[in-house]
Amino acid sequence: MSIHDLRKTYDAGPRKPGIEALKGVSLDVAEGDFFALLGPNGAGKSTLIGIVSSLVNLSSGSVRIFGTDITRDRDAAMRLMGLVPQEINFNTFEQPLDILVNYAGFYGVPREEAIVRAEEELRRAQLWDKARMMSRTLSGGMKRRLMIARAMMTRPRLLILDEPTAGVDIEIRRGMWQTLREINAAGTTIILTTHYLEEAEHLCRNLAIIDRGTIVASGPMKALLARL
Ligand code: ADP
Ligand code: ADP
Repeated sequence: MSIHDLRKTYDAGPRKPGIEALKGVSLDVAEGDFFALLGPNGAGKSTLIGIVSSLVNLSSGSVRIFGTDITRDRDAAMRLMGLVPQEINFNTFEQPLDILVNYAGFYGVPREEAIVRAEEELRRAQLWDKARMMSRTLSGGMKRRLMIARAMMTRPRLLILDEPTAGVDIEIRRGMWQTLREINAAGTTIILTTHYLEEAEHLCRNLAIIDRGTIVASGPMKALLARL
């Protein structure tokens, strides 16, 4: 993924100056990478992810995902990526298996293929034994792993996660890290946002640090850690 001079100004209402959430961000994430976007609250992480996943309109600049320009060919770009939002947003009165199969169906995956993929993804997320439970009864960590499994149902080349472990305790975080490592090892590029340095340190090969809409440092994790 390649981002060039990305800017975003939110409208703050009549007679008020806009909120400059991104002030000219450029970034390159290579295929196969595990990349962290690290920064404090309000830095612009959600905005950046929102733009990359076509939920937020950019003000200027460009984003290409494996060569596809997201503003020129939004649908093609969307097919290349899976998104794991911060909030749990599946119907908790459905069963995990149905959540995954229906999601894939929405993206045009034939039902039989969707069932095969759902088993694979539920196993990888260590949720196969919960496939037929009411998802409302899953723990917080299981619900988040289910969201990762769901995003993988379309076989994205790029998986984007917004603060995947915000507010979850360390045991649950470790379980999610394991799932994400397996997904990356199988070839999917991962970008996540986090405000936990520890999380970036454990998972990612490369990172960028964003503060008040500007990238203040970026590069390989090891080189950056040595400078901190
Ligand atoms: P995060 O740390 O994930 O950005 P926030 O609490 O800052 O969480 O924001 C939660 C949601 O509210 C996000 O979808 C964000 O885009 C939106 N939001 C944040 N700040 C504002 C604002 N000033 N006006 C309107 N929406 C906002
Ligand atoms: P982060 O995810 O790093 O916490 P955000 O991208 O949510 O940061 O927010 C960056 C800045 O943009 C903050 O000042 C936030 O208040 C503002 N912002 C985010 N979403 C909106 C929105 N929908 N409308 C207005 N301002 C917003």
